[in-house]
Amino acid sequence: MSARRELTVAAAEMLACRGYADTDEHTPEDEELLAELAAVAAAVPDAASPTKLADYWIAQRQDAYERSIPTWTCDCGAKFKVFPRWPNDEEFHRVADDGLVGEFAGEIRRNSQGGLKHSSDCPCCGKSFIDTITRQADPQMSLF
Ligand SMILES: [Zn+2]
Repeated sequence: MSARRELTVAAAEMLACRGYADTDEHTPEDEELLAELAAVAAAVPDAASPTKLADYWIAQRQDAYERSIPTWTCDCGAKFKVFPRWPNDEEFHRVADDGLVGEFAGEIRRNSQGGLKHSSDCPCCGKSFIDTITRQADPQMSLF
């Protein structure tokens, strides 16, 4: 086994221990994970130990997840990442320059029937999130 292969296998086992991967059975996903780890190891010279390599892989996954969260744009042009939060609330975060989730910007809370309990205001224009979302969802209202 090459040193690179040993490194990626050790990192994959570490990820399995931490619950990020399942390497009990030899599956095509294992090879996929090993290929991803090998790509990280090749791109990041600092990822020279299994722990560091596993950490870089997790960080890349986290970044990809954050970038994949849809962005909502307020009428004023401010952009937010919106997370659904159990049971029927939403959390608004600013979008960082690199497309990642930025600082907390506000929230919408609803009661168990879905009725509005609280809506924060857009920190840029001061209009409530729920008013803007409701207006955007109703094309007739957009005429006014
Ligand atoms: Zn706004």
